[in-house]
Amino acid sequence: MIKCLDCDRAMNADEQEPEIGDILVCEACGAEHEVISVEPVELELIEEEK
Ligand SMILES: [Zn+2]
Repeated sequence: MIKCLDCDRAMNADEQEPEIGDILVCEACGAEHEVISVEPVELELIEEEK
């Protein structure tokens, strides 16, 4: 299961097959994550400047 690094809620991404460089958006808080590794999947939070 892939969890949001910001709010720690599960993201609906485990049915897909993430690829390195993919951007996953948390539906709960809107945080964007970049896939930096697969097997196991590792995400990096993308800090957005506002
Ligand atoms: Zn989140």
